[in-house]
Amino acid sequence: MDRTGPLVGLTVPYLHKPEDLADLLDGEPSYRLDQLRRWLYETPVLSTEDMTNLPTALRAQLSDLWPFDVEIERSADGGTTRKWLFRAPDGAAIESVLMGYPRRATLCISSQAGCALGCTFCATGQFGFERHLDAGEIVAQVAYARAFLRQIGMPGTPDHLTNVVFMGMGEPLANYDRVREAIRRIVEVMGMSARSITVSTVGLVPGIRRLAEEPWPVSLAVSLHAADDELRNSLVPINRRYPLEELEAAASGYFEKKRRRISIEWTMMDSVNDSEDQAVKLAGIARRLRAHVNLIALNPTPMTSEKASSEAAISAFSRELARRGVNVTLRDTRGRNIDAACGQLRLLAGKPGLRVSAKHERV
Ligand code: SAH
Ligand code: SF4
Repeated sequence: MDRTGPLVGLTVPYLHKPEDLADLLDGEPSYRLDQLRRWLYETPVLSTEDMTNLPTALRAQLSDLWPFDVEIERSADGGTTRKWLFRAPDGAAIESVLMGYPRRATLCISSQAGCALGCTFCATGQFGFERHLDAGEIVAQVAYARAFLRQIGMPGTPDHLTNVVFMGMGEPLANYDRVREAIRRIVEVMGMSARSITVSTVGLVPGIRRLAEEPWPVSLAVSLHAADDELRNSLVPINRRYPLEELEAAASGYFEKKRRRISIEWTMMDSVNDSEDQAVKLAGIARRLRAHVNLIALNPTPMTSEKASSEAAISAFSRELARRGVNVTLRDTRGRNIDAACGQLRLLAGKPGLRVSAKHERV
């Protein structure tokens, strides 16, 4: 498919629950409902124009309902990383990053515009909180990436989305009900497996406990970054409310209930949390939780004073964990040069003048 000119993003009504789509189809024959539901959830398309079995007038009417435009699209890593900045009608920036690999395609989605939790090293946190994203705005990011993979494609990558991670902007468990509704739709209406969805949290204990009671075995990632309260209080302010002991208990409860291996995210910061002492303490927590540890080299943001750990420090830290029987990996930093790596989302969002043409090349 060859697309030129500005890409108009999803203009379809994800703001309506799938069960309420009939509200949009006043006066249409009843089979339209099923047709529309399929276009939205089963075989999503990049534009309402692609909903070929719907009459033109209805397509136009649908596209007027909810403009959800792609303001910026950037590509990196040989076309295997795509970042989108969607702009909601009220100006809120919604960012997603799609990462393609030979056997999987992972979409990193946002659950809030901004974040109120103020972790010192995170670009999203530094800009503060704008608003919660609606369930439909969360689901639409997934639909868009699915449509992109199907209609445009990524080199050397499956034509369907295999994983969704809530690791973009925002704290998903601080927007619990909308995130829950988004997960319900992604699993029960779109048909993705709950196991392929990862909710990443900085450690909102009540949210972890609620998530454990939900019917879906979604994967849980806990962004730990520090293995004692003193250090964690200084990096992750919410630790004062939910200290490590409580967080560990909630994570452990999640594991017991779901039997899904938890991952611990650890952003490596030079001379902050890359010491042997932290590795030893982290190994204790990881072993008790039977968790996997994901190390991430800090990505620079304009306002962080912290620096990334050196490669040597990361290797030493990783070896120390492995020596203590912890399963550890180093996460790749996709999209660094397009401000799409972890913690860098939103950097471009505050600059509305910056528009790059969203022209899709054929792959
Ligand atoms: N609020 C949730 C999810 C979004 S953050 C959470 O904190 O888990 C997604 C991941 O990116 C988290 O693991 C977070 O710690 C990490 N991150 C934030 N800022 C970063 C930075 N500057 N460099 C590398 N990783 C960062
Ligand atoms: Fe919010 Fe997560 Fe960033 Fe902390 S790391 S400020 S919780 S988005």
